Amino acid sequence: MSKPYRGGCACGALRYEVGGEPVAMVECQCRQCQRDSGTGHASNLAFMGAQVTIDGPRNTWDMVGDGGTRKSRAFCPTCGSPVYTVFPDMPNFIAVRAASLDEPERYAPQIVVWADAAQPWDRVDEALTKFDQMPPAMA
Ligand SMILES: [Zn+2]
Ligand SMILES: [Zn+2]
Repeated sequence: MSKPYRGGCACGALRYEVGGEPVAMVECQCRQCQRDSGTGHASNLAFMGAQVTIDGPRNTWDMVGDGGTRKSRAFCPTCGSPVYTVFPDMPNFIAVRAASLDEPERYAPQIVVWADAAQPWDRVDEALTKFDQMPPAMA
């Protein structure tokens, strides 16, 4: 069993621990991730069926993604950091923000999604496979 992924928000009030290994590590350049991150993309580790512990106060923003997926984005009520996203239609699934990790170097992006919406000033690793929108298997 590998070491759990631990992390939290900028002020430390909202913390999580996720056991298991991510099924995908994804750079998302959609407009929602741009607005929500304040920059060109969001970096997410997606886990399926993982052991998840959440600790501390959080607010959630329930919304529908550009691809039609229902999402509940969790953020710290004090510092406002986006920390993780859960999916009402996929209770097994959680995505955590790469920079929220205590060891952010464990994030190793594999693909880029929503490249169609990318800003010209946003640079991601050119070696990564890019999808114009969300790949069908992940929508
Ligand atoms: Zn906080
Ligand atoms: Zn996105």
